[in-house]
Amino acid sequence: MQVVAGVDLGGTAINYTFLNAREEFLIDALCEHPARSKEGPEMCLAQIANGLEIAAQRAGIRPADIAVIGLDTPGPASATGVFSARGSTNFVHPDWSGFDIRGHVANKLARPVIYLNDGNAAALWGHFVLFGAQNGATSISAIVGTGLGGGVIIHDSVVDGRRGFGGELGHVLIPYQSIRGMRELQPLCNCGRAGDLESLCSLTAIERCLLPFFLPLHPGHQLAQSADHRQAAKLVRGLAENGDPMCREIFRVQAHALGLFFDAMINTFDPDALLIGGGALETTPEFQRWFVEEIRAGMPIQREEQAGIPIHVMPNGDTASARGAAIEALKFARANALV
Ligand SMILES: [Zn+2]
Repeated sequence: MQVVAGVDLGGTAINYTFLNAREEFLIDALCEHPARSKEGPEMCLAQIANGLEIAAQRAGIRPADIAVIGLDTPGPASATGVFSARGSTNFVHPDWSGFDIRGHVANKLARPVIYLNDGNAAALWGHFVLFGAQNGATSISAIVGTGLGGGVIIHDSVVDGRRGFGGELGHVLIPYQSIRGMRELQPLCNCGRAGDLESLCSLTAIERCLLPFFLPLHPGHQLAQSADHRQAAKLVRGLAENGDPMCREIFRVQAHALGLFFDAMINTFDPDALLIGGGALETTPEFQRWFVEEIRAGMPIQREEQAGIPIHVMPNGDTASARGAAIEALKFARANALV
């Protein structure tokens, strides 16, 4: 039987999965290989090809069974998978600048390759878990990691935009001054904006904005001893889980920022569901429940019909993007009668 592949190319790892026409994934767990993207595109293309063969063996399929490949990477890249000529934090070798990753993978593997950015791919996976591939539903996903990614899925289709910047949810401005006690906050993002979602809700936000704001208010806090905010930021979630009041407050601010963001999405798209995922949510069910309740608490008053829109935590964080890329590949394969 013909299948499609999902290949998630990150800065440090490549993750693979396969999906058949019955919408069954053929690899349950993470199937990951290190990515040598620092050595440039040629090395990485060879690695993608080798890794795909190993993954196919593991899934018990022949390489010839793979009809279409879905590929995702972190951006910035165009909607057709050409990396920005201005470079990217994940692909630092100079040869990556302006590199057509989709076209080169298609040539190398002699198959159709469709492209998504990793946030949009993860959003598509979250959508699929809730609704399947052909339900006609609409969902918005926010992925809270080092930065903030995600995606908008309308009637099962990813909104990738004309230039590939659709679903760049991290750079949507948030009226954060309305979050209790945050009037004096100065949230600056790498993109140059002040007060966008990523500057308020991400590991980078904890490091650059929230710890510098909260630590002076809690001079005796254990994290105040550390001069290195980057290291301290990684400890905040664990402390919050254990009930540390300052760290809970940091997660409350992030949740309320998400609440304001989702409220804007609810009024823009009237979605069937909202999803959250990423490293920040890889935590206990109790903490996830508390965080979702805080997101809800951070939303302005809504119409009764709007207040019932569910907020879900995305499952299988590590494999989300590869699976989303495979789902997009299956869509293409179906439309072109390849599976
Ligand atoms: Zn930004």
